[in-house]
Amino acid sequence: MSNQKLSPQFSPFLPAANPQTWLGVMGGGQLGRMFAQAAQSMGFQVAVLEPADDCPAGQVAQRLVNAGYGDADGLDALAAQCLAVTTEFENVPADSLSRLARQVFVAPNAHGVSVAQDRIAEKRFFVDCAPKSGVMPAPHKVIASLEDIAAIGDDLLPGILKTVRMGYDGKGQVRVRSREDVRAAFDGMGQVTCLLEKMLPLAYEVSVLTARGADGQSVVYPIAENVHRDGILFTTTVPGPNVSDACAGTAQRAAQAIVAELGYVGVLCIEFFVLADGSLVVNEMAPRPHNSGHYTIDACVTSQFAQQVRAMARLPLGDVRQHSPAVMLNILGDVWFEGDSDEPREPAWDQVLALPGACLHLYGKDDPRRARKMGHLTFVAPTLEEARRQLDAACAVLGIAP
Ligand code: ATP
Ligand code: MG
Repeated sequence: MSNQKLSPQFSPFLPAANPQTWLGVMGGGQLGRMFAQAAQSMGFQVAVLEPADDCPAGQVAQRLVNAGYGDADGLDALAAQCLAVTTEFENVPADSLSRLARQVFVAPNAHGVSVAQDRIAEKRFFVDCAPKSGVMPAPHKVIASLEDIAAIGDDLLPGILKTVRMGYDGKGQVRVRSREDVRAAFDGMGQVTCLLEKMLPLAYEVSVLTARGADGQSVVYPIAENVHRDGILFTTTVPGPNVSDACAGTAQRAAQAIVAELGYVGVLCIEFFVLADGSLVVNEMAPRPHNSGHYTIDACVTSQFAQQVRAMARLPLGDVRQHSPAVMLNILGDVWFEGDSDEPREPAWDQVLALPGACLHLYGKDDPRRARKMGHLTFVAPTLEEARRQLDAACAVLGIAP
């Protein structure tokens, strides 16, 4: 294979990338792994930058640049090799993306990622964008000092105190009922700057996966309905059983306004809350493929990972059409443990794979731990009812309460 590297130019009207060139990804987790697999199936070669030497993406990439996310030499090596670079996690240092962008096309860019990785910047962006998107975030207040806590209005309680940076899977969040609770939680988090959000009565949660190309064209996948358990995504169902046409239309328009306003290039996922009256509240966005978009691998013409490849390589975006109803279940490390035992054993994959429509994806992590994402399982079927029936059967095999 050739190791062709075009000189970096940032015009969206450049000739598209030639498959057989190298694409780079910041981060070595499962999202990087599935990105690499999609890129490779289109003929690209993939380089991953990641400090850990055994990682899900490193196991499949043609090259692992073993370096810290802020390591100048590592970044320069990635840039020198690749035609374009993307990221698989939102906490990548924005400065690193800026450094890469001086040498190579980077999508998404440092601006989009820095807004998404800071809950204050993200909320401000959502508020500013509301006239165009038509959706607002939950009422909130920045908590940076004890004075801020004293000034909390009753309208924000009960609420959820969230760290501004580095939160994921419900980590860095505490539910609070009173100012005293907020004070205790703020102390418990080492008095780092937090955001207090009013606790909303959610009817259900949806996410909207969207992608925008360098030419400004954008696409939106079908709306996904998500169920969380213990702060971690449990299942994604598409089409969402509760999602009305009106809700889907509002969420799709909001998503397109948001990516356009950000000037974003690449795949972006936006999480929304739907309240009892059907109104939508925008929660947060992930500047990358998202766990709730994994169903696209098996149920859509173009997976979210293939879409990221197309966007960053400045190729035409792919068809987002869903060809089968789908339900995705996250596989956590818990299923390796029987009851309270701490001796792991292999789950009965043979019984799971005997179920019609089962598509199993394991991420190559050899150390199962409870609450650790080890893989996911998508059921596709002619009807949603059938997909859910098979999912229930898989839950029974794996010892997961349905
Ligand atoms: P992720 O795993 O998506 O990165 P996260 O840790 O960044 O999650 P959020 O998405 O903000 O955190 O919150 C996790 C979950 O907590 C939400 O999906 C929702 O179920 C619940 N939640 C968060 N904020 C609120 C709110 N203001 N009102 C009600 N429920 C909320
Ligand atoms: Mg979330």
